[in-house]
Amino acid sequence: MAPPTLKWLPNYWVRLEFAFIITCLLILLNVVKDQQLMSMGICPSKDSNANSMLVHRLQKYGVLNSKVAADAMRQIDRADYVLESRNAYVDSPQPIGYSATISAPHMHAYCLDYLLDHLKPGMSVLDVGSGSGYLSAVFALMVGENGRTVGVEHIPQLVKRSVDSIKKGPAAHLLEKGALSIHVADGKKGFPDAAPYDAIHVGAAAAELPKALVDQLKPGGRMVIPVVDSLMIIDKLEDGTIHEHSAMDVRYVPLV
Ligand code: SAH
Repeated sequence: MAPPTLKWLPNYWVRLEFAFIITCLLILLNVVKDQQLMSMGICPSKDSNANSMLVHRLQKYGVLNSKVAADAMRQIDRADYVLESRNAYVDSPQPIGYSATISAPHMHAYCLDYLLDHLKPGMSVLDVGSGSGYLSAVFALMVGENGRTVGVEHIPQLVKRSVDSIKKGPAAHLLEKGALSIHVADGKKGFPDAAPYDAIHVGAAAAELPKALVDQLKPGGRMVIPVVDSLMIIDKLEDGTIHEHSAMDVRYVPLV
C-alpha cells in the first residue's frame, strides 16, 4: 500500500500559522486600545489594575500623600460605586442619580489627607452625604473593625445602592460586624447615637457650619466640610475651642 500522502501538511501549517498571527494581532490591538483608554483614565470595565493606576497617579501628582489612605483607596474599587463603569477611573465627579455625584478621586484624596490623623484604627468617623458610599468604605477600612464608621445620606435609594456596593468589596465584613453602617437621615443633624466623632466628613456644601456637627466632634477631632464654595477645616481643640480655616475653593452639590 502506498504511504499516506503528506501533501496537505504545508497548507495545514500555513493556515495554522495564519490563524495564530491573526489571533496575536487581535490581542495586540486590544491591549493597545485598553492602554490608550487607560492612559486617558477611561477603562472599559471593572479593573483593579486601573484602580491602582488611578491611585498611583494621585500619588505621583502629589494629591495623595498618605500611604495608609492610598492603600485603602486601592482596595476600594471605584467601579463598584459609579453608574458607568467605563468612567470609573476618570479623575472627575460622576453622576450617581438623584442629582448626586460621586466626588472626584482627587477630592476624596485631599479629604483623606486632611483627616488622616483622625482616621487611625479604633477611631470613629461620620460621613455626611455619603452618596455612593465610596468614602465611607475607605474610612471603614482605615479605622477598622475596632473603629466605627457611620454614613448618613438622605436619599433612601442611594443608601440601598451604597450598601450593595460596599458588599462587593473588602469593607463588606465591617458592615456585617456593625463597624460600618449607612443610615437614611438628615446629615445636618449628624448622627447623635454614635457621637462624638474623631473625624467628620461632609460631602455636600452647607450654607453655614451646622452646629449639631460641631457639637458631635470630639475634643481633638477634625471636620472637613464645604461651606458655600470653600473647603473648611474645623479643628476642635482639647479645651473645646474651635479653629477653622479654608483649605481651598471647591464646588459641591448643596447640603439640603
Ligand atoms: N462623598 C459622596 C458625595 C455624594 S454627593 C460620594 O463621593 O459619593 C453629596 C451627597 O449629599 C448626595 O448624595 C446628597 O443626596 C447628599 N445630601 C445632601 N443633603 C443632605 C442632607 N441634608 N443629609 C444627608 N445627605 C445629604
